[in-house]
Amino acid sequence: MMALPSPRPGVNSLWAATGGPAPRLPALDGDATADVVIIGAGYTGLSAARHIAAGGLAPLVLDANAVGWGASGRNGGFVTPKFRLSLPAIAAAHGRDMARRMYELGHEAVDAVEELVEEFDIDSAGFARVGLVKAAHTERALAAVAAEADWMKAEMGDGHISLLSRDEVRAELGSDGFVGGALTRGPGCIHPLNYARGLAAGLSARGVRIHEDSPALAIRREPGAVVVETPRGRVRAKQAIIATNAYSDLTGATRAMQRTLVPFRSAILATAPLPPDLAASLLPTRRICSETRRMMRWFRIVDGRFVFGGRGAFGKADSPAAFAALRRAMVALFPMLADIRVEYSWSGLVAMTLDSVPHVGRRDDGLLFALGYNGAGVAMASLMGRYLAAFVRGETPDVGLLDARRLAPVPFYPLREPAVRAVAGWYQMLDAVGL
Ligand SMILES: Cc1cc2nc3c(=O)[nH]c(=O)nc-3n(C[C@H](O)[C@H](O)[C@H](O)COP(=O)(O)OP(=O)(O)OC[C@H]3O[C@@H](n4cnc5c(N)ncnc54)[C@H](O)[C@@H]3O)c2cc1C
Repeated sequence: MMALPSPRPGVNSLWAATGGPAPRLPALDGDATADVVIIGAGYTGLSAARHIAAGGLAPLVLDANAVGWGASGRNGGFVTPKFRLSLPAIAAAHGRDMARRMYELGHEAVDAVEELVEEFDIDSAGFARVGLVKAAHTERALAAVAAEADWMKAEMGDGHISLLSRDEVRAELGSDGFVGGALTRGPGCIHPLNYARGLAAGLSARGVRIHEDSPALAIRREPGAVVVETPRGRVRAKQAIIATNAYSDLTGATRAMQRTLVPFRSAILATAPLPPDLAASLLPTRRICSETRRMMRWFRIVDGRFVFGGRGAFGKADSPAAFAALRRAMVALFPMLADIRVEYSWSGLVAMTLDSVPHVGRRDDGLLFALGYNGAGVAMASLMGRYLAAFVRGETPDVGLLDARRLAPVPFYPLREPAVRAVAGWYQMLDAVGL
């Protein structure tokens, strides 16, 4: 079986450099049949394959690139139950019961990661529930963090959040840049690429067909069937799942989904290994950390390196200027990193939706999808496979606000890029003046 010429540019990430061996998965060559053809081999597609196969149906997964080439192999590895829309905001707009269901979904999602890691024995993913520190950059932001923690306790009965004083945040982070914060127990961290590869290797060992270098070029309908065309073969299935998230415009086949998303580039830096004293003084508890600015930055320590993420370049490609700006932001918060070399810089696309939550379900009789994780998809995409499998079986599970019927197309789609720039610029200005 000959491999197709690889269309993928390498991702110069810490994860690629430290990742375990990639499973060897051939391109589709010839015609195949399946119960469900899944387009995209990130967490969404792989977890869908797991749950569909467990229900006794035959899935077949196609990826245009390699397993984990998309956001699933590039992300920060924060495993959190959060949505971009806060639960108090959900309660205010949709009622307390809806907020409760969303709260449950968030926690099911973190549990789903833990279950998959255990089921497939993915030790190299290093999943650990280290807890999340949210650091407040102003008194006003701290008051909002405290109000949300109170609300979570009173309305959701959530006892996992405790407030941190300025000194406690300084001790957690090793930075003077914050006025206080909150610690949430339960969220965790993971090696994102090893997690994706471990899922694929485990599924493949069970006989689930996964084909890399196999872009879906067209999705055709025939009576009672969906046919997905790839360069060297086609798959005929009863149903198809689109699991391409922010990369839905790679080919025309899934571009219709792209119209429901606004892609936003998120970037990450990883330093060289820190000198031992510095490694011991920064984030000594090894929790994952984020902050309260609208243009949020987040950080963690991985194998003695400082890993710092935030906004990437606008537009289609990376830019040295965006990485330089991210480095300046890192050094402003952690001046002790000024002389430390950055060894890896990379980025990827996150998929924003108009209502700030993902969506899952049916597009029509033959087509299903789950996407729009708004930058918080490690846990949620891992969970979505379970619900996709339920929809495949013809069930209508309660997915709260994630219901596919709520997904709205982006109005004035051609204007999305200037709109993203304008909103980001406005947020940066508000952050700069401390509002
Ligand atoms: C830099 C960055 C940092 C992030 N950090 C975090 C974090 O710390 N915590 C968190 O919860 N979330 C984070 N996210 C978001 C999270 O990574 C994503 O929400 C999640 O990985 C989405 O998984 P997915 O399987 O839906 O999509 P992806 O992993 O993007 O997979 C989509 C796949 O579809 C394939 N594809 C596209 N078109 C076709 C086609 N026509 N035919 C075949 N295959 C196709 C692509 O090759 C790709 O492999 C981050 C994202 C980025 C980019």
